[in-house]
Amino acid sequence: MALTQAAERAALNKIIDYLNEDPEKNIDTIMTLVNKFVPEYVLPSQRRAFDTAIRERNNWYRLMMRIFDLNPEVRTKLLKTLIVDCSVLAWPQQERMREKHQCNIPYAILLDPTSACNLRCTGCWAAEYGHALNLSFEDIDSIICQGKELGCHIYIYTGGEPLVRKDDLIRLCEKHQDCAFLCFTNATLIDEAFCQEMIRVGNFVPAISAEGDEGTTDSRRGKGTYAKIERAMNLLRENGLPFGISCCWTRENADAVATEANMDWMIEKGALFCWYFHYMPVGASSPASLMPTPEQRERMYHFVRDMRSKKELFTMDFQNDGEFVGGCIAGGRRYLHINAAGDVEPCVFIHYSNVNIHDVTLLEALKSPLFMKYYENQPFNDNHLRPCPMLENPYELGRLVAESGAHGTDLVEPETPEDLRRKTVAGAAAWAPVAEKIWNDENDPMYTKRLEGMQQGMADTDLEKFERLGHFGDCQNEK
Ligand code: SF4
Repeated sequence: MALTQAAERAALNKIIDYLNEDPEKNIDTIMTLVNKFVPEYVLPSQRRAFDTAIRERNNWYRLMMRIFDLNPEVRTKLLKTLIVDCSVLAWPQQERMREKHQCNIPYAILLDPTSACNLRCTGCWAAEYGHALNLSFEDIDSIICQGKELGCHIYIYTGGEPLVRKDDLIRLCEKHQDCAFLCFTNATLIDEAFCQEMIRVGNFVPAISAEGDEGTTDSRRGKGTYAKIERAMNLLRENGLPFGISCCWTRENADAVATEANMDWMIEKGALFCWYFHYMPVGASSPASLMPTPEQRERMYHFVRDMRSKKELFTMDFQNDGEFVGGCIAGGRRYLHINAAGDVEPCVFIHYSNVNIHDVTLLEALKSPLFMKYYENQPFNDNHLRPCPMLENPYELGRLVAESGAHGTDLVEPETPEDLRRKTVAGAAAWAPVAEKIWNDENDPMYTKRLEGMQQGMADTDLEKFERLGHFGDCQNEK
């Protein structure tokens, strides 16, 4: 770390210590201190949002105060890691690397430590795949070391059930204290001993899958699972530990999970965030019939934005929130995915690749043909409610895969992009007019920003890339 960066880190950590001393009293002066030490170009929109929350004492302010109710040791470590190491210091480094290497550099890396899972949920690939594949401790450690060189300090575990490997995951937290680790988990392996380990390392945050009530959960995941999930949430809350909820919404559960009562239940349980994921019909036996209808998706769009304006919970809806990040974030633009076999995929839902992390460096993977196709063609649509080359622009994925010569990497049910397209094309056509209606709605709070054009959610290096390539991604193509 350069001396100036070390000094910046020390100064920012001091600001967090000051805030921690008496959050309610000191929070009013915090942004003045941040503005003094952090250059204006670093995360300007996030800083504006913090400033507004503090001034207006709104739901985001209440969320901040909930964070200050966490175990003091954990919250101090986590705030320093997340704000200082993972964002304020990491972002300029990522931008420098994007500029230098002329390819995408991720903000976060998703990886599957294992294909193993302790549950046997209906319809889940891990249930069929078994315990055959693992990224070793050394594999994951090497990915993190390489990622940090590029400025990436956020690592997100998917699976399989990552906590099957909880000892290794804690060792990685211990070794990389300047990184934050998020883990999508069924929560059934969280016990008191693991909570104590989380307190000790201070940089591990579970995102617990919760997609329905006791009856729905137990019928899909096995009897007693819902009770175990609730027990894990209670343990985390009692220990003052941070956690969130992840929820895959489908045509069947969309109306049940998108309710204010469900949000209140999450807050009461102690969750700090809720991330909604639109069901993707990926894998030969995943039916298109579970895809939410356009009406459900429109309702979800309004529901999440409404909740975000009033609940003390950080709610995101990955398929409808593309405008905050400039559209598709895959292919390393903000994230990538490495499966348990080591295949480096553009996205957790895109099971095609040219490279395996056992054969190439992370940087070589980011420069591999399919990743460069993403780099050259993002965004895939100028309406960020239609961001995906697979879901809403179904002809794009086949083209990217064909032009790059990528192969299928699905661990259980490989399918061709054409077979996948056959499942998404009707839904994409049905969603397009609804997406256009919402996008062009003059009463939508985001309307003015949308008029400003493609800048919204873009990094400086995105804009420089557009200028260099002479086009705004692939959004001029016929949709
Ligand atoms: S490929 Fe599709 S699902 Fe993946 S990040 Fe891009 S838009 Fe989202």
